[in-house]
Amino acid sequence: MSAASVEKKGWFDWYFKSNLLMRILIALVAGAVVGIILGFNPGAVKPFVDYSKFFGDLFIRLLKMIVVPVILFSLIAGAASIAPSRLGRVGVKIMVYYLFTSALAVVIGLAFANILQPGLGMSIVGDAAIKGKAAEAPTLIQTLLNIVPTNPIDSLARTDVLPIIFFALVFGLAISYVKDSKVPAIAKGAETLFDLCNAAAETMYKVVSGVMQYAPIGVFVLIATVFAQQGAKAIGPLLMVTVTVYLGLLVHLVGVYGGFLAIFRLGFFKFLKGANEAMITAFVTRSSNGTLPVTMRVSEEKLGIPRGICSFTLPLGATINMDGTAIYLGVCAMFIGYATGNPLTFNQQATVVVTATLASIGTAGVPGAGAIMLLMVLESIGLKVTEGSAIAAAYAMILGIDALLDMGRTSLNVTGDIVGSAIVAKSEKELDLAMWK
Ligand code: ASP
Repeated sequence: MSAASVEKKGWFDWYFKSNLLMRILIALVAGAVVGIILGFNPGAVKPFVDYSKFFGDLFIRLLKMIVVPVILFSLIAGAASIAPSRLGRVGVKIMVYYLFTSALAVVIGLAFANILQPGLGMSIVGDAAIKGKAAEAPTLIQTLLNIVPTNPIDSLARTDVLPIIFFALVFGLAISYVKDSKVPAIAKGAETLFDLCNAAAETMYKVVSGVMQYAPIGVFVLIATVFAQQGAKAIGPLLMVTVTVYLGLLVHLVGVYGGFLAIFRLGFFKFLKGANEAMITAFVTRSSNGTLPVTMRVSEEKLGIPRGICSFTLPLGATINMDGTAIYLGVCAMFIGYATGNPLTFNQQATVVVTATLASIGTAGVPGAGAIMLLMVLESIGLKVTEGSAIAAAYAMILGIDALLDMGRTSLNVTGDIVGSAIVAKSEKELDLAMWK
């Protein structure tokens, strides 16, 4: 065979050989522009959504397909490669970081809402057509108990992340003990099991890279759909809410994450360069869980966070660490207060800091989950979303633009998880610093 025939050009080389991030960014901007234009032609929105839905859903399904195997295999392999005492230390450090940054996020959200006062002077009145909802919070004991699966296979089938984490950690730790078994055949078997899990995790990351090749198409459709359906609504009275939420997100990104990275002597721009694929995927999928395979791959392959740490901290973060959601909860509680003529008192705001931090922990990493937790936060300060009330009307307005707010907050949620994992890895002297040069 001649060299020329080996190097034959593929039809799609122009696509596959161009920079992936560039392709995704172009799709993002093009999607927003097309969506906004469509938004001004209401008649065109439905046909567009009907015909393009397949392509957006395909992207989300491809990502969801790999979530469970990625968590399971990398966590088993990760736990089997880290000493139990070290795992405990990593766990405490990451929990402190997650809690601290979430509370800080609510404070930032409240601060911006105090300055910009979204909703002030709107005097929304009730509308009997709008139904309220009651949010029920599970008890603390039940929440803790639920972490232990009664049937791991069932948890895997339902993508219940916390029980999966628990089982995989226990299983991985047990492998590391069995590897030292006195019976050679068993020790060898455990070694093989460990190698298999590692190889399976690696294989899943390969699948993620493949899926990302499709990302630009999925991104275009998903973004265009959100802007077509919701863009116009955010231009009216809700513009201030959107601006306040996004300003809060930006300040948290630069101030808090930039600050943490600087304290640990890690470059902010290097971080963004490594993490951007996960940040954009979170932005368009609006799901921390769905983004998890991408988050884990970039953390290992681009930011040099070892599997022993990020396989544990990232799934945990995708489940309980939601700084973007915390900011959103603070801002929206303030908006609803202002818009219905009940501006929040200092005490109410202090309560919001506590309840919104807890609510963000309880928020599932799926699209729109934060909006449901907002009900709990409102309840805690006496703003009940009852049928036909002004509070319910203001809440419904927020729901109208929730997807737009969800994009930004999910992106920050995921970013926070990666920052935490990077600094914990650095503090454990396990971060591959060559990747940050
Ligand atoms: N969509 C967010 C996430 O997956 C959760 C939320 O709705 O606030 O991180």
